[in-house]
Amino acid sequence: MNTRELFELIEKYLQNPSAFENQLEEEIKKRFSLKNINLLILEFLEFSQRPDLPREKRIKLLEWLGKFLLENLEIEKATKIYKILSKETPKDEYTQILEKLTFYKDLEKFKRLREKISLNFKVATQLAEEAAEQGKSIESFILEKYRIPKVEILKSIEDYYKIPALDLKRLLAQRQVKKLPEVINIKSSFFRELLSIPYVYQDKVYIFTYHPKDPERVERIKRLLNLEEVEIAFAFKEDILSAIEAYYQEGILDLLAEEEEVLTEKEEAEAPELDSAVVQLVNQIIEEAYRRRASDIHWESLTGRRGLLVRFRVDGECFHYMTIPESQKRSCISRIKIMAGLDIAEKRLPQDGKIKFKTKDGQTFEIRVATIPTIENNEDVVMRILGGIEFRSLEEIDLLPGHYAMLKSILDLPYGLILCVGPTGSGKTTTLHACLKYLNKPNKKIWTAEDPVEIVQDGLRQVQVNPKIGLTFSRLLRAFLRADPDIIMIGETRDQETAHTLIEAALTGHLVLSTLHTNSAPETVTRLLGMGIDPFNFADSLLGIIAQRLAKRLCKYCKRSYTPKPEEIERIKFEYGEHPVKPLSDSLIKEAVFYEPVGCEECNFTGFKGRIGLHEILVPDEDLKDLIIKNAPANEIRKVAMQKGMITLKQDGILKVLRGETTLKQVLAVTLR
Ligand SMILES: [Zn+2]
Repeated sequence: MNTRELFELIEKYLQNPSAFENQLEEEIKKRFSLKNINLLILEFLEFSQRPDLPREKRIKLLEWLGKFLLENLEIEKATKIYKILSKETPKDEYTQILEKLTFYKDLEKFKRLREKISLNFKVATQLAEEAAEQGKSIESFILEKYRIPKVEILKSIEDYYKIPALDLKRLLAQRQVKKLPEVINIKSSFFRELLSIPYVYQDKVYIFTYHPKDPERVERIKRLLNLEEVEIAFAFKEDILSAIEAYYQEGILDLLAEEEEVLTEKEEAEAPELDSAVVQLVNQIIEEAYRRRASDIHWESLTGRRGLLVRFRVDGECFHYMTIPESQKRSCISRIKIMAGLDIAEKRLPQDGKIKFKTKDGQTFEIRVATIPTIENNEDVVMRILGGIEFRSLEEIDLLPGHYAMLKSILDLPYGLILCVGPTGSGKTTTLHACLKYLNKPNKKIWTAEDPVEIVQDGLRQVQVNPKIGLTFSRLLRAFLRADPDIIMIGETRDQETAHTLIEAALTGHLVLSTLHTNSAPETVTRLLGMGIDPFNFADSLLGIIAQRLAKRLCKYCKRSYTPKPEEIERIKFEYGEHPVKPLSDSLIKEAVFYEPVGCEECNFTGFKGRIGLHEILVPDEDLKDLIIKNAPANEIRKVAMQKGMITLKQDGILKVLRGETTLKQVLAVTLR
């Protein structure tokens, strides 16, 4: 179609919009490519200038064009059209659109992605608002939400700003950028505020900035660092912020290296004087571990004077964080012992203590510290970070919809006993606190006894047990009963006395929550009865038992869908086994999308990030209560519970495999006994 034919079509459209709108749109789309969009607009403007065209038709045509440009995220060009329109006829509507266009003009940088994630101006502004609400940059938000490769987002941004847009995080990880030594002489807040940081990249000084259109930021850095020629590159906001952090952190290590010789002498003298560099190093390692949500930090003295290895445990697995030079080993360990109030001179016996730690931005948490003497007159330190447990709501603990409804229905009951069971590290505390969050209302008095208190919630009255002075779970429970409670949570039930009092409390009008170290819901019943508690009272009080495990969750950034082989499907069916009322149907398998781990920066190239809860929930009805009273064996309870619809931990896990959240291997790893 040439210009004349296009004009004819426009004319037809203006005569009869409803009949020709689609045809016009199709034609425009055909012409609409980056190459000739300017031409297209010229054609439209030319047509709209025709003297024989009535004014209202001209406006209609321009409005149509403006709308079309917004649909395609052509913000700059749309702005021009709306400016013409508001000159033609000043309307509030145009002013509002123009204001919005000015405010969000940068969103045009995602133009290249518009087909991939069906992005138009409206969607883009909504994303920007959502991202701002969550305190994220819109780039990172899009990356997370749509799981598109970061390089595609960077390419789109590069197109828009006409400067390189680089993956600074990757460059840092691959050590492709070198730092400028003079940077650490300037306060980190300066760079944080400018959202810009310089590096040497490919033998040139680059300033990585989040605001390439604001030359003043770059100028300020150039002036302060006496830089003459610099290149400018765009980087994600989050990448720049963590790069700034890394700059200063590595700075400390360099400082240590410089002082190495002097400190070796001190070390020989066995009287480590703690210089501020060591203090800062220990603090930074703890902060970094906390930031990465590590549960433990292991400080391990290597044999043969090879230094102090630091490892973090994150999501249940240890990984190497750094190695501190031998010359700093004793100073670091002494520093930790001082922080934990331990005897620095005692190196031959294990000791344990606590640290109350405050991060630079004011968050406080507790660390349990244990030292253990190791070979070659060394010492290891193991730190358990408390409060690293995530606080989640009932909606966020990965319950399948049926389980969610079940749990809510028993939490809504006025009294009775709810137990959460599983081995150490199976997420019981997170689940109990999710339940408490649901229950936590101003009209309820809630007492909790915990060891340790890892999640703090306003509204709860939380108590830390302290067996050293006789403040045990059972003593606190008795105290709570005299303190007008509605709801009581007892961190752990270990003995018959506590179990007995819990049941009494549940029967006398209180909602009672606790945990037990048992493997499954049916086994919990037999374990408690084995402790010697009264079966009638127990059956009467029991509202439900939640057994759980945590399995590794596939990294959402890199997981890849695949078609499983027939033998894999067979294996899944075999592992799921028979279920009297909830069998694993072929249609369920057919609808499922299977994913496998790949590995990317987000997940440390493991393919897994975070963990997913697997659940088995037993809510006893009259038949099951009869079995409890009869002290029936666990397998009989399981069989009847399944007839009533209970699914096992493994079955719950397999349903989550079918939802693409984890893999069969990971489910089996935590549910096989
Ligand atoms: Zn990944």
